[in-house]
Amino acid sequence: MKKEIQIIWFKRDLRTQDHAPLWTAAQNSIAALAIYVFEPEIMEAPDHSERHLIFVCQSIRDLRKKLSIPLLLFFGRPEQAFGFLQNSFTIKQVLSHQETGNRISFDRDKRVAHFFKSESIEWLEFPSNGVIRGIKNRKNWSTSWMETMKTLQFPVDLKLLVPVLDTIIVENTISGEDLFLRHLEEIPGFQRGGESEAMRYMVSFFEERYVNYIKHISKPAAARKGCSRLSPFLAYGNLSIRQIFQKALFLRYHGGKKRELDFFIARLQWHCHFIQKFESECEIEFTNLNKGFDDIRTEVNALWVDAWKRGMTGIPMVDACMRCVVATGYLNFRMRSMLVSFLTHHLFQPWQSGVHHLAKAFLDYEPGIHFPQFQMQAGTMGVNTIRIYNPIKQGLEHDPEGEFIRMWVKELSHLPPSLVHEPWKMSQLEQAFYNYQPGITYPHPIVDVDSAAKTARESIWQKKKSKEVKENNRAILQKHTKRSSEQESPLFPMRGE
Ligand SMILES: Cc1cc2nc3c(=O)[nH]c(=O)nc-3n(C[C@H](O)[C@H](O)[C@H](O)COP(=O)(O)OP(=O)(O)OC[C@H]3O[C@@H](n4cnc5c(N)ncnc54)[C@H](O)[C@@H]3O)c2cc1C
Repeated sequence: MKKEIQIIWFKRDLRTQDHAPLWTAAQNSIAALAIYVFEPEIMEAPDHSERHLIFVCQSIRDLRKKLSIPLLLFFGRPEQAFGFLQNSFTIKQVLSHQETGNRISFDRDKRVAHFFKSESIEWLEFPSNGVIRGIKNRKNWSTSWMETMKTLQFPVDLKLLVPVLDTIIVENTISGEDLFLRHLEEIPGFQRGGESEAMRYMVSFFEERYVNYIKHISKPAAARKGCSRLSPFLAYGNLSIRQIFQKALFLRYHGGKKRELDFFIARLQWHCHFIQKFESECEIEFTNLNKGFDDIRTEVNALWVDAWKRGMTGIPMVDACMRCVVATGYLNFRMRSMLVSFLTHHLFQPWQSGVHHLAKAFLDYEPGIHFPQFQMQAGTMGVNTIRIYNPIKQGLEHDPEGEFIRMWVKELSHLPPSLVHEPWKMSQLEQAFYNYQPGITYPHPIVDVDSAAKTARESIWQKKKSKEVKENNRAILQKHTKRSSEQESPLFPMRGE
């Protein structure tokens, strides 16, 4: 007779603490093993990149050091992995977190559910970070989220897990071991994955860095230290939102700076708010949430999009931000918004033309935040205020000395603060003095920022006033915000920073 086992299926929850599947598995005496599946379909998708894979592998390396049960790595479809294990064992139950991912992961979960049903395997799925599956609207969502954040974490005692002791040799064709070993190397300038690293960032944020949170959040250079930098750890589940929330709340009531901590806690809720939106409306990955915008921005100017992707638009702040995020995987919120605003408003390109490029670039790529944020900045949600960020003004306000620009746009590194934001304004004498040849040393601006913004504003506002957009907005508000007299997220209203 085959031995009964339970399997913890790790996905985007690569941690050992506050982990419902691990905790539940530890409550019974069935032998346990853990698996992670590298899925080619996900890895080949247009929103995936090697930096994500490396972060995952580093997280797995850390998990393996901590877990008391085997963590097997597979390459292929999860059904193949479970099928392989089913040949040697009777899988009693599979435990995992619910995932609010892209369409590929959604389809995969449907396939896997079907497989488990056909094999009589019980699949226990646990909610992630207060996101609720299957709700029709947002009534009471904030209250429920707050309750989840305030309840006790799952106190996982890894020693209680009973390991599967049998030697399991995963066939070469479906083993993920090689892939794992080939993707552990650190990329200079990038954050490293893993629960231990996540803890280190969390401690340093609450011990010292958070005091400058509000002061630095909008500054592209200072935000790299002043913000928590916890986003990649959250995206791959090296930490739960609740772990961070409870640390922040504890500090708030024990002498911490209240304003900074409230500002920060609000963003933890935003994280889940956006994922909840995506959970209930996964079409946001592909199409405008408000269909009233479908007939604008219908054509792609490939040359412009390419210039935007390469950081060669001729607008120094735009190019600096793009080159920085491509080189390091990180950019602060305001400058992400500015990049999307420039693509979708100044260049008037469909958001779809840039959404995968930045998904690949962001180390913290989280589909449930990324797609709604992209649409929000592009104005295609319909319900949000449209903000067109002036990239020159953003540069002058948040990088007045031009240090960030000079660091990332080396062609401009010799220009003084007075010229670096708008090099096209240089006189011929200045051009000669700084050996600056417009269009040769650095591109001409591909659009005139002021007139492009004006044209976009008129076009979008006209659309916003249309009957179709207004009607769609009503349905969107009903589904994604609270009903009756309540406001959306009354605890933490959404504003820009
Ligand atoms: C176009 C666009 C795309 C984005 N894509 C992603 C993405 O793929 N993954 C991602 O984690 N964030 C995304 N964001 C949100 C935000 O920019 C990042 O969460 C933040 O910059 C991460 O840095 P941090 O961890 O230092 O944040 P902190 O300011 O320290 O905030 C703490 C945490 O709160 C959450 N958070 C902060 N700001 C936001 C926000 N505006 N919306 C939702 N959650 C927020 C994040 O989980 C973050 O780690 C996007 C924003 C824009 C404008």
